[in-house]
Amino acid sequence: MFINSAMSADGKISSVQRTQVRISGKADLARVDALRAESDAVMIGIGTALADDPGLRIKSEALRRARAEMSLSENPLRIVADSRARTPATAKVLGPGCILVVAESAVEERRDCLSQLCEIIVCGREKVDLVELFARLAQRGVKRIMVEGGATLNWSLIKLGLVDEIYVYVGATIIGGERAPTLADGDGFRENFPRLMLCSVQQLDEGVLIKWRLQAQDMGH
Ligand code: NAP
Repeated sequence: MFINSAMSADGKISSVQRTQVRISGKADLARVDALRAESDAVMIGIGTALADDPGLRIKSEALRRARAEMSLSENPLRIVADSRARTPATAKVLGPGCILVVAESAVEERRDCLSQLCEIIVCGREKVDLVELFARLAQRGVKRIMVEGGATLNWSLIKLGLVDEIYVYVGATIIGGERAPTLADGDGFRENFPRLMLCSVQQLDEGVLIKWRLQAQDMGH
Protein backbone atom coordinates (compact mmCIF):
# COMPACT_ATOMS: atom_id res chain seq x y z
CA MET A 1 0.00 0.00 0.00
CA PHE A 2 1.28 3.46 -0.77
CA ILE A 3 0.43 7.06 0.11
CA ASN A 4 0.36 9.72 -2.58
CA SER A 5 0.20 13.31 -1.41
CA ALA A 6 0.86 16.85 -2.55
CA MET A 7 2.35 19.30 -0.08
CA SER A 8 3.55 22.89 -0.11
CA ALA A 9 7.24 23.72 0.30
CA ASP A 10 6.52 24.13 4.03
CA GLY A 11 4.98 20.64 4.32
CA LYS A 12 1.27 21.52 4.42
CA ILE A 13 -1.28 19.47 2.47
CA SER A 14 -4.05 22.06 2.93
CA SER A 15 -4.71 25.40 4.61
CA VAL A 16 -5.95 26.19 8.14
CA GLN A 17 -9.46 26.29 6.65
CA ARG A 18 -8.89 22.65 5.61
CA THR A 19 -10.28 23.30 2.15
CA GLN A 20 -8.55 21.99 -0.95
CA VAL A 21 -5.51 23.98 -2.11
CA ARG A 22 -4.17 23.63 -5.65
CA ILE A 23 -0.60 22.47 -5.03
CA SER A 24 0.02 20.33 -8.12
CA GLY A 25 0.37 21.35 -11.74
CA LYS A 26 -0.87 19.61 -14.87
CA ALA A 27 1.92 17.04 -15.09
CA ASP A 28 1.46 15.95 -11.49
CA LEU A 29 -2.31 15.61 -11.86
CA ALA A 30 -1.74 13.36 -14.89
CA ARG A 31 0.72 11.31 -12.83
CA VAL A 32 -1.88 10.90 -10.06
CA ASP A 33 -4.46 9.78 -12.63
CA ALA A 34 -2.04 7.14 -13.97
CA LEU A 35 -1.32 5.93 -10.43
CA ARG A 36 -5.05 5.50 -9.81
CA ALA A 37 -5.30 3.50 -13.04
CA GLU A 38 -2.58 1.11 -11.79
CA SER A 39 -4.27 0.56 -8.43
CA ASP A 40 -6.84 -1.95 -7.22
CA ALA A 41 -8.33 0.65 -4.88
CA VAL A 42 -8.03 4.30 -3.93
CA MET A 43 -8.65 5.20 -0.30
CA ILE A 44 -9.33 8.36 1.74
CA GLY A 45 -10.47 9.26 5.26
CA ILE A 46 -13.84 10.84 5.98
CA GLY A 47 -12.08 14.15 6.77
CA THR A 48 -11.01 14.38 3.12
CA ALA A 49 -14.43 13.29 1.85
CA LEU A 50 -16.04 16.09 3.88
CA ALA A 51 -13.43 18.74 3.07
CA ASP A 52 -12.81 18.11 -0.64
CA ASP A 53 -15.66 15.85 -1.81
CA PRO A 54 -13.41 14.03 -4.33
CA GLY A 55 -14.95 11.61 -6.83
CA LEU A 56 -11.73 9.51 -6.81
CA ARG A 57 -12.34 8.25 -10.34
CA ILE A 58 -9.87 8.17 -13.24
CA LYS A 59 -10.16 11.33 -15.33
CA SER A 60 -8.45 10.13 -18.52
CA GLU A 61 -10.79 8.25 -20.83
CA ALA A 62 -7.80 6.47 -22.41
CA LEU A 63 -6.70 5.13 -19.02
CA ARG A 64 -10.22 3.93 -18.22
CA ARG A 65 -10.43 2.22 -21.60
CA ALA A 66 -7.06 0.56 -21.07
CA ARG A 67 -8.31 -0.90 -17.79
CA ALA A 68 -11.50 -2.15 -19.45
CA GLU A 69 -9.40 -3.83 -22.15
CA MET A 70 -7.57 -5.70 -19.40
CA SER A 71 -10.98 -6.88 -18.10
CA LEU A 72 -10.69 -4.59 -15.08
CA SER A 73 -13.40 -2.26 -13.84
CA GLU A 74 -13.06 1.20 -15.47
CA ASN A 75 -12.11 2.68 -12.11
CA PRO A 76 -10.37 1.15 -9.09
CA LEU A 77 -12.51 0.61 -5.99
CA ARG A 78 -13.07 3.76 -3.94
CA ILE A 79 -12.74 3.26 -0.19
CA VAL A 80 -13.62 5.71 2.59
CA ALA A 81 -12.65 5.09 6.24
CA ASP A 82 -15.71 6.50 7.99
CA SER A 83 -16.19 4.94 11.45
CA ARG A 84 -19.41 6.83 12.19
CA ALA A 85 -20.97 6.67 8.71
CA ARG A 86 -20.85 10.47 8.36
CA THR A 87 -20.46 10.47 4.56
CA PRO A 88 -23.20 12.69 3.09
CA ALA A 89 -25.56 10.89 0.72
CA THR A 90 -24.58 13.47 -1.92
CA ALA A 91 -20.82 12.69 -1.70
CA LYS A 92 -19.26 12.26 -5.16
CA VAL A 93 -17.31 9.21 -4.04
CA LEU A 94 -20.51 7.16 -3.54
CA GLY A 95 -22.03 4.88 -6.18
CA PRO A 96 -21.12 1.46 -7.61
CA GLY A 97 -17.50 0.60 -6.82
CA CYS A 98 -17.46 2.55 -3.56
CA ILE A 99 -16.84 0.87 -0.19
CA LEU A 100 -17.62 2.74 3.01
CA VAL A 101 -15.78 1.22 5.95
CA VAL A 102 -17.60 1.87 9.21
CA ALA A 103 -17.19 0.75 12.82
CA GLU A 104 -19.66 -1.40 14.74
CA SER A 105 -20.69 1.68 16.72
CA ALA A 106 -21.95 3.55 13.63
CA VAL A 107 -25.62 4.47 13.92
CA GLU A 108 -27.62 1.78 12.14
CA GLU A 109 -29.93 4.20 10.31
CA ARG A 110 -26.93 6.00 8.79
CA ARG A 111 -25.43 2.67 7.73
CA ASP A 112 -28.71 1.48 6.22
CA CYS A 113 -29.26 4.72 4.37
CA LEU A 114 -25.75 4.69 2.88
CA SER A 115 -25.97 0.99 2.03
CA GLN A 116 -28.38 2.00 -0.78
CA LEU A 117 -25.54 3.97 -2.35
CA CYS A 118 -22.45 1.79 -1.86
CA GLU A 119 -21.08 -1.33 -0.24
CA ILE A 120 -20.61 -1.13 3.53
CA ILE A 121 -17.88 -3.02 5.38
CA VAL A 122 -18.10 -3.10 9.17
CA CYS A 123 -14.63 -3.36 10.65
CA GLY A 124 -13.57 -2.35 14.18
CA ARG A 125 -15.58 -1.40 17.27
CA GLU A 126 -15.36 2.40 17.69
CA LYS A 127 -12.93 3.17 14.89
CA VAL A 128 -12.13 1.46 11.63
CA ASP A 129 -9.59 -1.32 12.31
CA LEU A 130 -7.16 -0.69 9.47
CA VAL A 131 -5.11 -3.85 10.01
CA GLU A 132 -8.19 -6.04 9.76
CA LEU A 133 -9.50 -4.02 6.83
CA PHE A 134 -6.37 -4.54 4.76
CA ALA A 135 -6.34 -8.24 5.57
CA ARG A 136 -9.95 -8.53 4.39
CA LEU A 137 -9.28 -6.53 1.24
CA ALA A 138 -6.26 -8.70 0.44
CA GLN A 139 -8.49 -11.79 0.68
CA ARG A 140 -10.67 -10.23 -2.02
CA GLY A 141 -7.61 -9.66 -4.21
CA VAL A 142 -7.46 -5.93 -3.46
CA LYS A 143 -3.72 -5.56 -2.96
CA ARG A 144 -2.38 -2.41 -4.56
CA ILE A 145 -4.04 0.35 -2.55
CA MET A 146 -3.37 4.02 -3.19
CA VAL A 147 -4.07 6.23 -0.19
CA GLU A 148 -4.87 9.83 -1.04
CA GLY A 149 -4.98 11.25 2.48
CA GLY A 150 -5.66 13.04 4.52
CA ALA A 151 -3.35 13.85 7.38
CA THR A 152 -5.05 11.72 10.05
CA LEU A 153 -5.50 8.58 7.97
CA ASN A 154 -1.91 8.86 6.69
CA TRP A 155 -0.68 9.07 10.29
CA SER A 156 -2.60 5.96 11.41
CA LEU A 157 -1.37 3.92 8.47
CA ILE A 158 2.26 4.94 9.00
CA LYS A 159 1.97 4.35 12.77
CA LEU A 160 0.61 0.85 12.15
CA GLY A 161 3.46 0.05 9.76
CA LEU A 162 1.06 -0.60 6.88
CA VAL A 163 2.68 1.73 4.35
CA ASP A 164 5.23 0.45 1.82
CA GLU A 165 5.90 3.66 -0.10
CA ILE A 166 5.19 7.38 0.12
CA TYR A 167 5.08 9.58 -2.98
CA VAL A 168 5.16 13.27 -2.20
CA TYR A 169 4.81 16.06 -4.69
CA VAL A 170 6.32 19.22 -3.18
CA GLY A 171 4.73 22.20 -4.90
CA ALA A 172 6.21 25.67 -5.32
CA THR A 173 4.04 27.42 -2.74
CA ILE A 174 3.88 28.19 0.97
CA ILE A 175 0.66 27.58 2.91
CA GLY A 176 1.73 28.11 6.52
CA GLY A 177 -0.46 27.87 9.60
CA GLU A 178 0.25 25.98 12.80
CA ARG A 179 -2.97 24.02 12.49
CA ALA A 180 -2.88 23.43 8.74
CA PRO A 181 -2.69 19.66 8.03
CA THR A 182 0.63 18.09 7.13
CA LEU A 183 1.47 14.77 5.46
CA ALA A 184 1.00 12.97 8.79
CA ASP A 185 -0.71 14.59 11.80
CA GLY A 186 -2.17 12.43 14.59
CA ASP A 187 -0.27 12.25 17.90
CA GLY A 188 3.18 12.32 16.33
CA PHE A 189 6.09 10.02 17.14
CA ARG A 190 8.15 10.76 20.22
CA GLU A 191 10.75 8.09 19.55
CA ASN A 192 11.43 5.30 17.06
CA PHE A 193 10.78 7.64 14.17
CA PRO A 194 10.15 5.58 11.04
CA ARG A 195 13.07 5.71 8.62
CA LEU A 196 12.60 6.25 4.91
CA MET A 197 14.77 5.16 2.03
CA LEU A 198 14.99 7.67 -0.81
CA CYS A 199 14.01 5.99 -4.09
CA SER A 200 13.90 8.90 -6.54
CA VAL A 201 13.67 12.66 -6.95
CA GLN A 202 12.28 14.22 -10.11
CA GLN A 203 11.42 17.74 -11.14
CA LEU A 204 7.79 18.00 -12.27
CA ASP A 205 6.07 21.26 -13.27
CA GLU A 206 7.49 23.86 -10.87
CA GLY A 207 7.89 21.38 -8.04
CA VAL A 208 9.56 18.09 -7.14
CA LEU A 209 8.26 14.54 -6.91
CA ILE A 210 9.95 12.51 -4.17
CA LYS A 211 9.49 8.77 -3.80
CA TRP A 212 10.30 7.17 -0.46
CA ARG A 213 10.18 3.58 0.69
CA LEU A 214 9.44 2.82 4.34
CA GLN A 215 12.18 0.78 5.94
CA ALA A 216 11.03 -2.33 7.75
CA GLN A 217 10.59 -1.59 11.42
CA ASP A 218 8.99 -3.15 14.45
CA MET A 219 5.82 -1.12 15.01
CA GLY A 220 4.73 -3.27 17.94
CA HIS A 221 1.49 -4.72 16.61
P1 NAP B 1 -8.64 12.34 6.86
O1 NAP B 1 -7.31 11.84 7.23
O2 NAP B 1 -9.06 12.35 5.44
O3 NAP B 1 -9.76 11.53 7.65
C1 NAP B 1 -9.58 11.31 9.02
C2 NAP B 1 -10.78 10.62 9.58
O4 NAP B 1 -10.87 9.29 9.09
C3 NAP B 1 -10.68 10.49 11.07
O5 NAP B 1 -11.02 11.66 11.73
C4 NAP B 1 -11.66 9.35 11.31
O6 NAP B 1 -12.98 9.88 11.47
C5 NAP B 1 -11.58 8.53 10.02
N1 NAP B 1 -10.94 7.27 10.34
C6 NAP B 1 -11.57 6.09 10.45
N2 NAP B 1 -10.77 5.16 10.89
C7 NAP B 1 -9.57 5.74 11.09
C8 NAP B 1 -8.34 5.25 11.57
N3 NAP B 1 -8.17 3.99 11.95
N4 NAP B 1 -7.31 6.12 11.66
C9 NAP B 1 -7.46 7.39 11.29
N5 NAP B 1 -8.61 7.92 10.84
C10 NAP B 1 -9.66 7.08 10.74
O7 NAP B 1 -8.90 13.83 7.46
P2 NAP B 1 -7.95 15.04 7.86
O8 NAP B 1 -6.80 14.62 8.67
O9 NAP B 1 -8.85 16.08 8.41
O10 NAP B 1 -7.38 15.51 6.48
C11 NAP B 1 -8.20 16.23 5.61
C12 NAP B 1 -7.40 17.40 5.05
O11 NAP B 1 -6.37 16.90 4.22
C13 NAP B 1 -8.24 18.33 4.19
O12 NAP B 1 -7.88 19.66 4.48
C14 NAP B 1 -7.85 17.96 2.78
O13 NAP B 1 -7.97 19.08 1.90
C15 NAP B 1 -6.41 17.55 2.95
N6 NAP B 1 -5.93 16.62 1.92
C16 NAP B 1 -4.86 16.99 1.16
C17 NAP B 1 -4.35 16.11 0.23
C18 NAP B 1 -3.14 16.47 -0.58
O14 NAP B 1 -2.55 15.59 -1.20
N7 NAP B 1 -2.73 17.71 -0.63
C19 NAP B 1 -4.94 14.86 0.05
C20 NAP B 1 -6.04 14.53 0.83
C21 NAP B 1 -6.52 15.41 1.77
P3 NAP B 1 -14.07 8.94 12.22
O15 NAP B 1 -13.54 8.70 13.58
O16 NAP B 1 -15.32 9.70 12.17
O17 NAP B 1 -14.10 7.70 11.41
